[in-house]
Amino acid sequence: MNIATVIVDVPALGTDREFDYLIPEKWLGIIEPGMRVAVPFGPRTIQGYVTGLKNNTDISKLKGITEPLDLTPVLNNELLALGKWLAKESLSFQIAAYQAMLPAAMKAKYEKKIRRIDNNANPVLDHIFKDRTEIAWDEAENKEQLPALHKEIKNGNVEVIYSVKSRGSKKMIRVLKLMIDKVAIENLMNSLRPSASMQKKALKYLLDYPAEKYVAKELMERSGVSQSTIKTLVNKNVFEEMQEEIYRDPYEHKNFVPTKPLPLTNEQQTAIKPVLHTIQEEKHDTFLLFGVTGSGKTEIYLQSIQAVLTKGKDAIVLVPEIALTPQMVDRFKSRFGNDVAVLHSGLSIGEKYDEWRKIQRKEAKVVVGARSAIFAPFENLGIIIIDEEHETSYKQEETPRYHARDVAIQRAAFHQCPVILGSATPSLESFARAKKDVYQLLTLSKRMNDRGLPPVSIVDMREEMRNGNRSMFSKELFEKMEDRIAKKEQIILFLNRRGHSSFMMCRDCGYVMQCPHCDISLTYHRYSNEMKCHYCGFDTGVPQTCPECTSTHIRYFGTGTQKVEEELLKLLPEARIVRMDVDTTSRKGAHEKLLDHFQSGKADILLGTQMIAKGLDFPNVTLVGVLSADTMLHLPDFRAGEKTFQLLTQVSGRAGRHELVGEVIIQTYTPEHYSIQLAGLQDYERFYQQEMVMRKVGSYPPFYYLVMITVSHEDLMKAFGTTDKIAKYMGTKISSEAMMLGPVASSIPRINDRYRYQCLIKYKHEPELNTALKKVLEHYQKQYIKEGLTISIDVNPYMMM
Ligand code: ADP
Ligand code: ZN
Ligand code: ZN
Repeated sequence: MNIATVIVDVPALGTDREFDYLIPEKWLGIIEPGMRVAVPFGPRTIQGYVTGLKNNTDISKLKGITEPLDLTPVLNNELLALGKWLAKESLSFQIAAYQAMLPAAMKAKYEKKIRRIDNNANPVLDHIFKDRTEIAWDEAENKEQLPALHKEIKNGNVEVIYSVKSRGSKKMIRVLKLMIDKVAIENLMNSLRPSASMQKKALKYLLDYPAEKYVAKELMERSGVSQSTIKTLVNKNVFEEMQEEIYRDPYEHKNFVPTKPLPLTNEQQTAIKPVLHTIQEEKHDTFLLFGVTGSGKTEIYLQSIQAVLTKGKDAIVLVPEIALTPQMVDRFKSRFGNDVAVLHSGLSIGEKYDEWRKIQRKEAKVVVGARSAIFAPFENLGIIIIDEEHETSYKQEETPRYHARDVAIQRAAFHQCPVILGSATPSLESFARAKKDVYQLLTLSKRMNDRGLPPVSIVDMREEMRNGNRSMFSKELFEKMEDRIAKKEQIILFLNRRGHSSFMMCRDCGYVMQCPHCDISLTYHRYSNEMKCHYCGFDTGVPQTCPECTSTHIRYFGTGTQKVEEELLKLLPEARIVRMDVDTTSRKGAHEKLLDHFQSGKADILLGTQMIAKGLDFPNVTLVGVLSADTMLHLPDFRAGEKTFQLLTQVSGRAGRHELVGEVIIQTYTPEHYSIQLAGLQDYERFYQQEMVMRKVGSYPPFYYLVMITVSHEDLMKAFGTTDKIAKYMGTKISSEAMMLGPVASSIPRINDRYRYQCLIKYKHEPELNTALKKVLEHYQKQYIKEGLTISIDVNPYMMM
């Protein structure tokens, strides 16, 4: 077959299809589906993905492929098909779907090389590589060498690598290979002059810790000798010095204590049985594992994965980004060791690429990662686990707008393997599906330590105000904090980030400083002394006088984490505080450092935003305080109640997970709201019932599906007019069962100087909807691409603003 079908990297509707290209003779048998290729497109050469091979085409003058960019496929057939499906479901371009599946290091701006992996004698490779381990791609791209190289790649002796040009991609480490045996070492030791104590020390180490190779740095550290001693021993031919590549392992400085499977409780056994059965039978099924925090869900994940590994298959575990804490990763690494690859946004581009390669080269069997790890290139998937399945971060908010849960089910159906969705507070959608037996419900009702959940008390902050307490801490919370600090126990204070940024207001005229480009007030950042827009990044100095009336009576409102910290320092000067928010955790590794600091008992209070709500497990924490529970409740989002309930339940789960008894205090201005009341009682079932009534009344998911169309343009009338036309058009395309709402201005009507309007479709079953939406995109793509109009269509939206 000498014709390749190629999806090209031109993200536009007109080019969102396969193009035929001729495979030049020298690449015949080399270019395969799933490889990236460079192809001529108009006047340019661009990147594309080979999706298939064929013999015939209708095109008369076929252009040839310029060159392959890979020598082994980077997408297998399953992923190629998945991308097609994903593009259709999410109304995005196929090229965008493929790009979302691969690590960023594989984008075009990276340098391509080939590297020799084997150490065996091999005349072909010896000839190509001479005595180098890596050569540039250009050098290998030569008629005689290519077929030979290709064969060696298939044999696993050579690989194609991409190095990030600017950063120096591979990490090398100095290794000392031992060249003499034990007897020779002893002889050498005995022959040394007494003054050569350092050399003796090094040699003794070699006898005590026999190995073939030593990492130079480790050897020096552990035996206590210096560089010059090593040099001397190299000169005496004790060692041969060499450079070896190591994977950048972000967890290299950690020691993992291996763990064994725990004997399961009766409840756990009942829950895991159907999962193990499905693994054994190699069938597909989706399970909803509904278990309170600390009920042993993770142990079920671990043992299910064990069963999958025993069958020689692979596992994907998704964890929300903010829960991808070192603690969580430790649990998987401790059980499965080096079989685990980790993928999250905290890794550098090079690190992510290394982890991806471990999977590609079948060196990892388990991947633990955030959303995009769902695309891990396993070929023999045995299970997919999504922990905290209700988390909205599983939905990607840019194209392709996919939900990891849908992708998981799609992949698992292909591989005939189970999916486990785990949560203490399942999304309404998932729980409803479990109730209808679409998913199989597995329940863990008891906490492991049999303590039950910690008692929660809800404090009415209006009452506090009436009693003259104007601080951000209620009397109860403050007294308990004092008590814990005296007892040397630890406290977590949680502040909802949304709606809690501090803003500046003039006390004379009420002026609030707004972003000049967005309809949103600027946030005051004390440390950098700036006013910043959290939507477009605009920043400006802090005004000394009111820009409106020139009054000097300017005040800063709101209680950001910084402000809470200041107040704490005033009220509890002896308390040692760790603050975790976007400001303190933006540097790489900061997150982990702060947590370690708290964990080791060097601080009394961990103060933070959403990022401390999940997955953390500190034995010494006996008090959790939620400073203001309702900031999220009043957002213009039909999931506001659900999110509030989930968050409060999660936060409460942080207390008393171990020997010490824990306690939770929730401060609120709306104590009567059912989300807060039922979170206080930790009663998910009742919350579910009540929230379902609200959803039914409002015709929201899970009763209806949603599609949100957002139009933005610099000109308000253009934005509105287009949205109006789309709404009218779509109105004619949907059945009487569906509803068309809007156009209305978005809750943030302007971002970055662009006006935003939206309309919302609610429907149950509209087979023609996808086609009609695609028509809308097509229509406006042609007409408005030059005018800077953007139309985004979000199927099953999670961001309602
Ligand atoms: P979840 O994931 O539901 O929050 P975990 O799996 O973290 O719960 O379990 C909570 C604690 O109970 C952990 O410290 C875990 O090691 C422990 N645990 C889990 N299963 C068992 C078991 N069968 N026997 C003893 N301890 C267990
Ligand atoms: Zn003023
Ligand atoms: Zn702005």
